[in-house]
Amino acid sequence: VIEIGTPEHIVKTTCAYCGVGCSFDAHMRGEEVVRMVPSRDGRANRGHSCVKGRFAWGYATHQDRQTQPMIRENISDPWRVVGWDEALDFAATRLRRAQADHGVDAIGVITSSRCTNEETYLVQKLARAVFGNNNTDTCARVCHSPTGYGLKTAFGTSAGTHDFDSVDETDLALVIGANPTDGHPVFASRLRRRLRQGAGLIVLDPREIDLLSTPHMGEGLHLPLRPGTNVAVLTAMAHVIVAERLYDEVFIRARCDWDEFMAYAEFVLDPRHSPEEVEKTARVPAGLIARAARAYAAAPRASIYYGLGVTEHSQGSTTVMAIANLAMMCGNIGVPGTGVNPLRGQNNVQGSCDMGSFPHEYPGYRHVSDAATREIYERVWGVPLRSEPGLRIPNMFDAALAGHFRGLYCQGEDIVQSDPDTRHVTSALAAMDIVIVHDLFLNETSNYAHVFLPGSSFLEKDGTFTNAERRINMVRRAMTPRNGHEDWQVTQMLANRLGANWSYGHPSEIMEEIALTTPSFSGVSYDLLEREGSVQWPCNADAPLGTPLMHVDGFVRGKGRFIHTEYIATDERTGPRFPLLLTTGRILSQYNVGAQTRRTANEVWHSEDLLEIHPSDAENRGVRDGDWVRLASRAGETTLRAVLTERVAPGVVYTTFHHPTTQANVVTTENSDWATNCPEFKVTAVQVSPSNGP
Ligand code: SF4
Repeated sequence: VIEIGTPEHIVKTTCAYCGVGCSFDAHMRGEEVVRMVPSRDGRANRGHSCVKGRFAWGYATHQDRQTQPMIRENISDPWRVVGWDEALDFAATRLRRAQADHGVDAIGVITSSRCTNEETYLVQKLARAVFGNNNTDTCARVCHSPTGYGLKTAFGTSAGTHDFDSVDETDLALVIGANPTDGHPVFASRLRRRLRQGAGLIVLDPREIDLLSTPHMGEGLHLPLRPGTNVAVLTAMAHVIVAERLYDEVFIRARCDWDEFMAYAEFVLDPRHSPEEVEKTARVPAGLIARAARAYAAAPRASIYYGLGVTEHSQGSTTVMAIANLAMMCGNIGVPGTGVNPLRGQNNVQGSCDMGSFPHEYPGYRHVSDAATREIYERVWGVPLRSEPGLRIPNMFDAALAGHFRGLYCQGEDIVQSDPDTRHVTSALAAMDIVIVHDLFLNETSNYAHVFLPGSSFLEKDGTFTNAERRINMVRRAMTPRNGHEDWQVTQMLANRLGANWSYGHPSEIMEEIALTTPSFSGVSYDLLEREGSVQWPCNADAPLGTPLMHVDGFVRGKGRFIHTEYIATDERTGPRFPLLLTTGRILSQYNVGAQTRRTANEVWHSEDLLEIHPSDAENRGVRDGDWVRLASRAGETTLRAVLTERVAPGVVYTTFHHPTTQANVVTTENSDWATNCPEFKVTAVQVSPSNGP
């Protein structure tokens, strides 16, 4: 029940859920939020919102909030509530002991795409400047790390090319592996409006998504490809475009290397990339692939929007590059209505990547081996820095099981529930000497922690989030932190116990340091953000008010690069024991592992993870609608209820991953993207059988 009252004051802030980054007015009565009203002047949402941003803020004051630090000697011991000094001293002592006993590389950090840019910047700085290694990674590892790799390789920068406004001018939207109506609802509304105005729609997805039911006047196609075959289908589309000379020669000659394109053209023309051949693998009719290719190439301004159905594959990075190839060959870059736009799942996944969370890159996507960049940070941070990349999250787990990695500071990420192959994760955590969980709630990961540091919610802090269109939005403190400290202050206190001498007094000072050290942020300041409301990076002397469209006159890397995107089948194969392919996604009313959305008072949040299965597959197994079923893979098994639907093709099943009781990732595998180790959440060979329930 939302109590409506006369607010005493309004605090303008940004939604803490998805990467649309909607602006909100928090109507406050003292320390109490009366209601959240979407801001009309919010550039990403213009007065709109979805059910999560509008109503799912109650978790900030939920009784489950853990507000006092806790420690324990061993993970089998009960927690002991202590003061901040004792908790941080305990954490610092164990971290230093781990390094003394096992080497400087024995500890690391995981940053959060839920935290602010300023908080994330400090956590990666903690690893590089205080731990003395580059063992920093982000939860983006398990979602959009292939976006970073693929777009940087093709275009020169790891970000979406266009702003959301651009969708109003598109003639055709190609949506790949994304379900915007559930995952990015406010953006989906804008896209739906454009479809109703006549834009075409092509959806590449194993599952029939709601967007396909939008009444629209343009071309509408659904390519229900077999999970794991994105690269094959996209390369077959390129085959058609090249074979029928539908590409934009003027654009390619001006913006790319023509000889490189010709070599790429020769590659895609190989008969193995023809729609007829790909039909055998992807199980999409060749004629449908050809129609999609022709429609994309013929549209005056065609845009591509994609989600985790692109990235969370063993060929996630290759898929991103295949998408970039399509956009470049049809000249769909640099003008409104076109572009390549990853729909970021978390509120600050763009920002967490921008802020140098990856083990190989400083803020602004500059490699740690680059001496000039290192010099900047060595001067500003006053310490020598390492030139070799650190460990990625899965490498941290492997090193822990080998006995080399002994300590982890994990901020705002429930890795046990979010990462693949849960047993592997928990075994690795159990092998460490010190696991520090810094979060709002005790969670599955804190079961393996020695220190719990209570975190602050978005309503309790100042800072910035960067949305999927590179827009830096302000987050403002509306209430006093329940735990007494904002998260950046906690990181600073830990760093200073480990020998640092940080003295930031406010997140604006951290942003000053970010601007000082990061060329794409050099024009960003809190004064500018207060004045303009928000800006999109790059924001610097060349673009003092930010950059809505990137790669307008040239690619950041110079010439756009065509990559040969060979399709390589995933190692995850179906067989007699596991004959079905499982893929996963979200529902509108829940968010990721549900830690926040499940802690609200509204009935809409009381959902459960369900298994969608085609009626023919269900009948073969004696499963009826609503029955409990056992979902088993080579990695593990879980139990959930079945929903019979033709939204999924025979041979494919689908579920969400919002509930700890289901723990869908118990069944997902250790397979990952070849370039970034992003887990292959979207393809798991499974068997479904009747069950009596959990
Ligand atoms: Fe929040 Fe995303 Fe919904 Fe906007 S669309 S209110 S950012 S969850």
